[in-house]
Amino acid sequence: MSDQLLIFDMDGVLVDVTESYRETIQRTVEHFSGRRISRPEIQDWKNRGGWNDDWALSNALIREAGVEVPYQSVVDYFNSIFHGNGTDGLIMRERWIALDGLFERLSQRFQLAVFTGRLRWEAELTLQRCAPHLRFAPIIGTDDVTRPKPAPEGLIKICDQSPAARRWYIGDTVDDARCAREAGVPFIGIAAPANPRYSELVRVLRAEKAIAVLDDINQLESVVSA
Ligand SMILES: [Mg+2]
Repeated sequence: MSDQLLIFDMDGVLVDVTESYRETIQRTVEHFSGRRISRPEIQDWKNRGGWNDDWALSNALIREAGVEVPYQSVVDYFNSIFHGNGTDGLIMRERWIALDGLFERLSQRFQLAVFTGRLRWEAELTLQRCAPHLRFAPIIGTDDVTRPKPAPEGLIKICDQSPAARRWYIGDTVDDARCAREAGVPFIGIAAPANPRYSELVRVLRAEKAIAVLDDINQLESVVSA
């Protein structure tokens, strides 16, 4: 097994979630508050840090609109849109970002792992649908840790399970960067040029000591091949 380890965040890194999670936040907030929040506004909250959990973020946005709803109702509505009946949920709109061949090349030289803010089964569902031929191990979901990102617990868990000479964490939010720094793992930032707050995101990821900020993971080999 390779002694080099690439650990990936999932949303916005492995899969494009603008039409899944981001749309689900918008619909959930609109359902309870009557207000359609914009995607730039959602990104502003993400850039502040501490809003990795989209249930918590939806709940905060509804409260900010002056509406009080039980937290579990927000979670239940969010999940009903995200999962649907199993075939029509917005989770099915997720798009695999890697071009053909990228992970085939990477997996020859690196062990691949995932630390995500999703529940582990949600991560496995999308990986199975988008990339059934690839092996990511371990996959650590938010239900595998007692403290979610930006706490470093999940990254430390992966590092303990997979002693490697070199390792990197690849993520797209301030919380990912802080999590990597706490765990002592070099961080590679992803900022999609289509992001509605692109230059702000690049600036905050650099400020959090990203060793590189890339448009997407297809540029990853230029950083980790050195
Ligand atoms: Mg992400």
